[in-house]
Amino acid sequence: MKVRVANSGFLKGCGVFTGKDMKKCEVIAKLDYEREVTKEQPLAENEKYEHQTYLPDGRIFLVAEPMRYTNHSCSPNSYLYSVEEQYFVIAKEEMAEGTEITIDYELTAVDGDTWECLCGSDNCRGLHKWDFFSLPVLVIMAYAG
Ligand SMILES: [Zn+2]
Repeated sequence: MKVRVANSGFLKGCGVFTGKDMKKCEVIAKLDYEREVTKEQPLAENEKYEHQTYLPDGRIFLVAEPMRYTNHSCSPNSYLYSVEEQYFVIAKEEMAEGTEITIDYELTAVDGDTWECLCGSDNCRGLHKWDFFSLPVLVIMAYAG
């Protein structure tokens, strides 16, 4: 198995961890969707806002297990790659089995709400805005390669 869900600590709750050694650029998983979230079918009480993902066309989907538990980091070791209407989680670097898989939520965020980051990385940006275009210019340039 490529991934497993485990406890990521008191503040973060569940996280997704590699189930084997991963190579740089390896596809870790495809994001499966549980359902589309719409005005007619908004999130239910037992569904979480942070388990949603946004497609470029504006549609919102509830991500299925196990990848819905992928935590954010300001220094992520993975990233989302979109092909048509599907996202894939790709290893940004080599990872040993048992490494927590993290992505930067802000890269695919669009709605502008704010949230306090708990990632604990050395370059943590602190207060986040759910908006790619609010990222610091140097961060956007680093992601652009
Ligand atoms: Zn952070």
